[in-house]
Amino acid sequence: MGRALITGGAGFLGSHLCELFLERGHEVICIDNFITGNPANVQHLVGREGFSFVKYDVTNYIHIDGDLDYVLHFASPASPIDYLEKPIQTLKVGSLGTHKTLGVAKDKGARYLIASTSEVYGDPLVHPQKEDYWGNVNPVGPRGVYDEAKRFAEAMTMAYHRFHGVETRIVRIFNTYGPRMRIKDGRVVPAFISQALRNEPMTVFGDGSQTRSFCFVTDLIEGIYRLLMSDDPNPTNIGNPNEMTVLQFAEEIKRLTGSNAPIEFRPLPEDDPKIRRPDITKARALLKWEPVVPLEEGLQKTIDYFRRVL
Ligand code: UDP
Repeated sequence: MGRALITGGAGFLGSHLCELFLERGHEVICIDNFITGNPANVQHLVGREGFSFVKYDVTNYIHIDGDLDYVLHFASPASPIDYLEKPIQTLKVGSLGTHKTLGVAKDKGARYLIASTSEVYGDPLVHPQKEDYWGNVNPVGPRGVYDEAKRFAEAMTMAYHRFHGVETRIVRIFNTYGPRMRIKDGRVVPAFISQALRNEPMTVFGDGSQTRSFCFVTDLIEGIYRLLMSDDPNPTNIGNPNEMTVLQFAEEIKRLTGSNAPIEFRPLPEDDPKIRRPDITKARALLKWEPVVPLEEGLQKTIDYFRRVL
């Protein structure tokens, strides 16, 4: 079925990708340096036939023995708190890491997929966001290190496609949740669920009127797999168009956990996008894909996971 290199394979999305690739009969080489990844996320895969793990920083030259059919670059810090704490690593993995992984794909004649993000749209002035929107990004704000690294990564990927003829795919990933998110990564899903389970104040930033659209991880991973197997090199949004305010989201988590936690309002972080919802018209037509897991079901699975690890 082909051999895949997955960077960031011990992270939240990376580990679910490794699982899906193994299930579908691929060999998987998983690379991670554990800056934000966690060995526990792939512990159950170690020793399984077709799976190998390499601890490595992909901003350095990468050497892989043997053939490769697919390269998926998922290594990156991915939460606003991570970008604040690791701004240089965030920039390096999105720029140098993308360059190095593209180099591997070119050398091996492998198909390449870059994990891009809805953050390329910044604080969007167009709603919902379609792939042809160029975005509204502050390059020098606190999120600029992530947003600009991913915008550079997209440009680099298109350059390798146009100039070197590498077969490439770009997925723009919108807010995703599920088991194996880091409890303390500062993102809204682990924050609200862990606060609700501990009956601690649920920290809503701003007045909670900003919106997000949350996709369950299995839906996202299926969309990414189909995109990889498609033939379109241009960016494709993958996410769930079910949009809600952050305050509604807090109340939903409170209800599902049966928590008595109070809701407390905190200052809105700088450049926090006010609205976000993917337009998935393209993914529906090109990939015959759309999310199928209802929010309540996905949240229950995520809450069960956090109950186990808290
Ligand atoms: N947020 C919040 N409380 C938290 C963490 C996040 O109200 O404890 C808000 C945040 O301001 C943003 C939304 O939830 O508007 C989603 O934040 P997250 O960090 O998950 O990712 P983003 O979508 O901003 O990249």
